[in-house]
Amino acid sequence: MGRYDRETALHAFDGQSRVIHPCAAQAKDDKPDFQGGTLRCHCHDSPVLVQINAQSQHNHLCGCSRCWKSDGALFSQIAVVPRNAVHVVENADKLGLVDPAAVIQRYACRDCGVHLVGRVESKSHGFYGLDFIHTELSADIGWSAPSFAAYVSSVVEAGFPPEQMPHLRRQLRALGLEPYDCLSPDLMDVISHHAYVRRRSEGERVSA
Ligand SMILES: [Zn+2]
Ligand SMILES: [Zn+2]
Repeated sequence: MGRYDRETALHAFDGQSRVIHPCAAQAKDDKPDFQGGTLRCHCHDSPVLVQINAQSQHNHLCGCSRCWKSDGALFSQIAVVPRNAVHVVENADKLGLVDPAAVIQRYACRDCGVHLVGRVESKSHGFYGLDFIHTELSADIGWSAPSFAAYVSSVVEAGFPPEQMPHLRRQLRALGLEPYDCLSPDLMDVISHHAYVRRRSEGERVSA
């Protein structure tokens, strides 16, 4: 099953980058002209296949409790692509919505539990038009590498010892992944600007 075993991750954490995420210490192999590839769930038989016709953007690690994580990892690895670049090409009938109430509508394989795509349906959301994907589900080489770690303090909510957080943040920085307790400043700016534009379009008077 694609479930992640947090107890194993907690006990194994002694600065091993693999526990942060299996891909965290891998060579950065992103190619500027990369045009996407195929995501595959963990089922041996009849896997769900999703074709992505774009390079990933804003690839990062995420410590929140909702993103899908590989076995034993403290963080997920997640990126976005334009939603019109995402096509489920095989076994779409195995995909189910994880939580209909969530802002990001995450679709997972019913058999192995792996999340294949997360879609924002609310047009008022700053990320409308983008789908969330996990590039580690692809064997294609050239995806953009993770460049920061988001929602780092959220791993404490899931049981990570708070006294180990300074060490964890040092490890993330050593991997070139600046730790943030929300999204990166760039993405927070995108969300805030979107909120400003929306309020303006709704006729509200906005002062800087
Ligand atoms: Zn599956
Ligand atoms: Zn997350």
